[in-house]
Amino acid sequence: MEKFSNWKLTYKRFQPAQEQLREALCTLANGYFGTRAAAPEATASKIHYPGTYVAGLYNKLETCFEKKCVTNEDMVNCPQWNFVTFRAGDEDWFCPSTARILTYRMQLHMKDGVVSRTVRFRTAKGARFKVESRMLIHLERMHLGAIEYKITPENYHGEITVRTMLDGAVENLGVARYRQLNSKHLQPCANGRFQKNGVYLSMKTSQSGVEIAEAERVRVFQDNKEISPRIRPVTRRLMKGRERIGQEWKMQVKENHTYTVEKIVALYTSRDKKVKRPVHAAVKETKRAPSFPELFQSHVKAWHRLWGDHDIHLEGDAFAQMALRFHTFHLLQVATAHNAEIDAGIPARGLHGEAYRGHVFWDEVFVFPFYDFHQPEVAKALFLYRYRRLDQARKLARANRFKGAMFPWQSGASGEEETQEIHLNPLSGKWGPDYSRLQRHISFIIAFNIWEYWKITGDYAFLKQYGAETFLEIARLAESLAEYDEKDQRFHIRGVMGPDEFHEMCPGSDHPGLDDNAYTNVMAVWVLRSAAQILEILNGEDRESLKKKLSLKKSELTRWGEITKKMKVLINDDGIISQFQGYFSLKELNWKAYRAEYKNIQRMDRILKAEGKYPDEYKVAKQADVLMIFYLFPFEEVRRIFKGLGYEIDLSQIRKNFRYYEQRTSHGSTLSKVVHCYLAHELGMEKKSMKWFHEVMSSDVHDIQGGTTPEGIHCGVMGGSIDILVRRFAGVTIQDGILCAYPRVPRKWKRLRFRLRFQDAWYIFSFTSRYLTLRVERVEKNTGKKVKVRVYGKEYSLPFRKSKKFSLKKR
Ligand code: BGC
Repeated sequence: MEKFSNWKLTYKRFQPAQEQLREALCTLANGYFGTRAAAPEATASKIHYPGTYVAGLYNKLETCFEKKCVTNEDMVNCPQWNFVTFRAGDEDWFCPSTARILTYRMQLHMKDGVVSRTVRFRTAKGARFKVESRMLIHLERMHLGAIEYKITPENYHGEITVRTMLDGAVENLGVARYRQLNSKHLQPCANGRFQKNGVYLSMKTSQSGVEIAEAERVRVFQDNKEISPRIRPVTRRLMKGRERIGQEWKMQVKENHTYTVEKIVALYTSRDKKVKRPVHAAVKETKRAPSFPELFQSHVKAWHRLWGDHDIHLEGDAFAQMALRFHTFHLLQVATAHNAEIDAGIPARGLHGEAYRGHVFWDEVFVFPFYDFHQPEVAKALFLYRYRRLDQARKLARANRFKGAMFPWQSGASGEEETQEIHLNPLSGKWGPDYSRLQRHISFIIAFNIWEYWKITGDYAFLKQYGAETFLEIARLAESLAEYDEKDQRFHIRGVMGPDEFHEMCPGSDHPGLDDNAYTNVMAVWVLRSAAQILEILNGEDRESLKKKLSLKKSELTRWGEITKKMKVLINDDGIISQFQGYFSLKELNWKAYRAEYKNIQRMDRILKAEGKYPDEYKVAKQADVLMIFYLFPFEEVRRIFKGLGYEIDLSQIRKNFRYYEQRTSHGSTLSKVVHCYLAHELGMEKKSMKWFHEVMSSDVHDIQGGTTPEGIHCGVMGGSIDILVRRFAGVTIQDGILCAYPRVPRKWKRLRFRLRFQDAWYIFSFTSRYLTLRVERVEKNTGKKVKVRVYGKEYSLPFRKSKKFSLKKR
C-alpha cells in the first residue's frame, strides 16, 4: 500500500497490478519530454509500460477494418532511454516482475523531482543483491535524462553483466481500448557508437517524418572509483534489427562492494529549434554533460527554486496537503519555461500516458489559471500553440460553412480535427459513432482563456499581437453558429454538443447534435459581448489596424450586438435551465437500481449501451454542462448576460440548478467533480463541497475512476483543484483591475499559505483559522509604492513589503 508524506509518495511493496498506476503517478518530465516511472529493467508487458513522450510530437497511422479505414493520431511513444539491468553469471536478467523480491521501496520525491527505488532480491541460485536507483529528467538542461543504478552483492562474488539499452522497438500500446488500431509509429533511422562508452539510436516517425535521436553515455564505478575505462563495454545491436542498441559490461564483483552504473542520455528531435542533425546534437550534449551527482545537484536546486513560488502550504488536512503538492508537481512538469522554445499545448493526460492520444482539449481552462497566476510566460507559450493553428481553425470553420475560426475538439500536430469518428465501448466490445467533435464550445473556452490571461497579466502586447485577433475570429464563429428564427424572433445554435458527452442527439432525430445547448449559447453570447470590450481595450491605432487586417465590418458588430440580446436559453417555470431543447421530455433514470447493480456507474453511457439502451433518451449527464456557466462566471456576470437576453435570473436559481443536475450526473469525467465542488462551496454547502474536494484530490492518486490514471494523469482535475483553492476557498477574483479576496477557507484547515502573481507583483496569502495576512512583494517593473486590494468588498492600499492582517468573516 502506498504511504504519503508531505513531499513523497512511497510504495513499500512491489505489486504487479499497481505497477502501471505508479508509473503514471511517478512520471518525470520537464515540459520538453516526460518518462513514465517504469522499472528500468522492464520493456512493455502486461505488468510494465515504459513510455517516453516528447511534448507536441505526434504521428498518424491508418487502420482498416472490414468496411472502414480510420486514421488515428497519437502522441508518439519514443524510444525507451532509461533501460538498465544486470545478471549474475549466466542467470536470468534482473526484473522485479520475475525476481524473488526480498524488500522493496519506490519513492517519488516531489520536492526534488526525482524517483528512487531500493530493491533487494534473490536469484534462482541464491545470490542476493541490493539495487538502488535514482532517475531524473533535468529541469534546466531540457534534453537530458539520467539514471544512477547501484548494485551491491550481499552474498555473491563472481561475474556480473550490466546491460544498458536505447530501445526503439516500442509502440503505442499503453491503452487497451486502442490496441485494435495500428500502433507502430517509429521506423529505424540510424544507430552506432561514439567514444568508448557511448551509443546512439535514431528513429523516424512514419507519417510526420520527425527524427528522434537518443545518445547514452555510461560510466561504471566500484565504490565511487571509475572502472569503466578498464572493463570496456561490448556494443550490441540488441535484437529487432536496427531498433535497439545497447552496451554490455562484464565485471568481477565482490560481496558488500557497490558497483554504480551512471547512464546519461540526451534526447533531441528534428522539431527542435536550430537542430539540423538530432544525432549530432544528442551525442554532443551527452559528451558535455557532467556526472550524475552534478546533474542531480543542479536539478534539485532548480526544483527548489520553482517550489519557492508555487508551493501551497497547508496545515490541518494532511492528505489535501500531499495531494496539492502532487498536483502542483505534475503541472510544473507538464509545461515549463521550455515551452517558449517548443510548439506544444497541454495534453489532457499530461506527458504521462497515451489516453486521449496526447491531444489537447478544453481541459486547458482548468489548467490555465495555474500558469496565469504563476508563470505567465508559460501560459503565453501554451496559448501560442493555439495561435499558430489559427489559420487551420479558419479552414475548419470554412469547411463546416461557418465564419471566423473554429478550433478542433481534439487538437494535435496540425490543428486539424483529430477526434475519432468511431470509438470502442469496452463493455460491449462494439464500435460506435463518436460525435464529440460537435463540441463547438471548445473555441469559446479558448476565447475565455485569452480574456483571463489578459485580466491577470495585463499583457497588452500579447493582446495586440495574438489575443485580440484570435478572440475576434472566434466571435465570428459564434455569430455564424447562431441562426435567427422569425417564429420566436430568437437566435438558436443547432446541431452541437455540450460538455456532457452522453447526449449526442435528440431521441428520434435523424441527425447528430442538439439544439440550444444552454452552455454553448451562453458562451457564444459572452464571447460576442466581450469581443466588443476587447476592441475598446485596444488603442485607436491598434484597433483600426486589426479591423483592417480582419476586414471587420460595422454590420458584423451590429449583428453581434443583436445576438447578445436575442439568443435563446430555455428556462422552465421552476427556474431550471434546460441543458438543451427537449431535455425535459427525456426519461428519468432509475439511479437507485443502477447503483445497486453496478459498483461503478460513472460511465453510465457504456452501461446503457451494453444493455441495448441509448443514453440520449435519459436525463443522465456525464459531467457538468449547464453548471459550467456558474463555474466560469461570477453570478453577477451571469445575471448581466441573462438580463441582456431578456431573462431574469436570481441567486436562488444557482442552488436549484445545482440540485437538479447534481442528481442527474454520473461524473464520468473527473472535471465534473471540480465544478460540483466549486459550486457546493459557493452555495455554502461546506460538507458537500469537502466531500467533492476529497474526490478531486483523490482522482489520480487513488485512481478513483478505476483504471484511467495508469493511462495518464488528468491535468484538468489537477489544475481544477488549485483553482478551487484560489478562486473559492481564498475567494480571489480580479475585478476592475484589482485583486479581490473574499475568503471562506474550509473550517478544519489551520493554516494555508500560497503566493500568486498578479500583473507586476507577487501576493502572498497566509491564513490562520482567524486571520488573513496579505503581503505584496517582489515587484517587477513596478514603480508604484502601493497596490490596491479589495478584501470582503472593502478597498485597501497596501504598501509593498508590509504585511496587513484582516479578520476572517465567521460563517
Ligand atoms: C471529458 C471531456 C474532456 C476529455 C479529456 C472526457 O472524458 O468528457 O470533457 O475534455 O475527457 O480530458
